[in-house]
Amino acid sequence: MAQNTTPVRSFHGILPPFMLQTLAATTNDPRWFQTLAQTQSLFANSPVRLNPVNRFVGATGPLARLETYDAKGRQTHPGDRARFDGDAPTGDKEVDDAYEFTRAVRDFYVEVHGRNGIDANGMKFVSTVNYGQNYENAFWNGTQMTYGRPGANSPFATFVLLDVCGHEVTHGVTEFVGDIEYYGQPGALNEHLSDVFGELIEQKMKGISVANADWIIGNGIWKPNVRGVGLRHMLHPGTAYNDPSVGNDPQPDHMDRYVDTWSDNGGVHYNSGIPNRAFALFAIEMGGYAWEKAGKIWYAARATAGRKPSFAQFAYHTIEAAKTIGFAADVPTLTKCWAAVGISPSATAVDTRTPPFPGGPFDPRRRNSIVWG
Ligand SMILES: [Zn+2]
Repeated sequence: MAQNTTPVRSFHGILPPFMLQTLAATTNDPRWFQTLAQTQSLFANSPVRLNPVNRFVGATGPLARLETYDAKGRQTHPGDRARFDGDAPTGDKEVDDAYEFTRAVRDFYVEVHGRNGIDANGMKFVSTVNYGQNYENAFWNGTQMTYGRPGANSPFATFVLLDVCGHEVTHGVTEFVGDIEYYGQPGALNEHLSDVFGELIEQKMKGISVANADWIIGNGIWKPNVRGVGLRHMLHPGTAYNDPSVGNDPQPDHMDRYVDTWSDNGGVHYNSGIPNRAFALFAIEMGGYAWEKAGKIWYAARATAGRKPSFAQFAYHTIEAAKTIGFAADVPTLTKCWAAVGISPSATAVDTRTPPFPGGPFDPRRRNSIVWG
């Protein structure tokens, strides 16, 4: 596959922009405006680099190292050394959780996919907890994970969660595997892949089979007074939360309810619900552990799907991947699960649903707001 030499600025936060905007509008609490403003600035200052190579496999060399830091409320990276590879637990829950979850992410990619590190070349896993004051988000900035700390009046309990860590680090992995564009259907697939692997990493660390999986991203993120089970529901998109302070989960579960928008980078956090449900349906049909078959098919499909796959094209690549890696007998079931969300696999059908950015003074790209979420 061709080497991509496009300059990349990478910034992904677990809370989508529309959720922060709803919180700002409904609570009038300055922390949400501060979080939005800081996110714009963090995006603008995130590292710009040439996306290196299409690295897909590689588990040679020493195991990727883990480095966990504590910013202690300062707006700084990486912060004070807190827990590195082999260190004993510190007794600080956020530090120890960030360390253990990153270790689970590292071990998942090595054990299941033979991938040592985000770049498949031993790149270390760096995490910072307790970032800033009033910074309500967790993000991947192209080089490391960072977790803010929810305030007393925040609806969020914590951002240091296993599937949140898996979701964000997987954005990093995606950048090194063909770097799927972050707009429209390719962007929704980028989000989808982060949800898939975030969920699979959690299922594997906890030894959960598909029969017992909850398919929820961000389980445990809400305080008990918020009506919600998480940020997204992969099996039943649109049912993760419904609360006056944060609004109603807007995810569609079928192409009939596809959200045509250029906001949220062309609806990346909305329409990811559609492939999420196809994946969950297929994994449940296969039974057993989702990372052993469905996850391997999706990982292989990602490597061949290129930079700008539509939903139909990505579905086609999952079917080709299933044939290539020894699961040809499951192709009829896979096709059925894509059909259940209204997607017909096609090698050539491009995304015709997502409207282009509007251009002019209101084009969000002018405000540096592209590529976060
Ligand atoms: Zn994301």
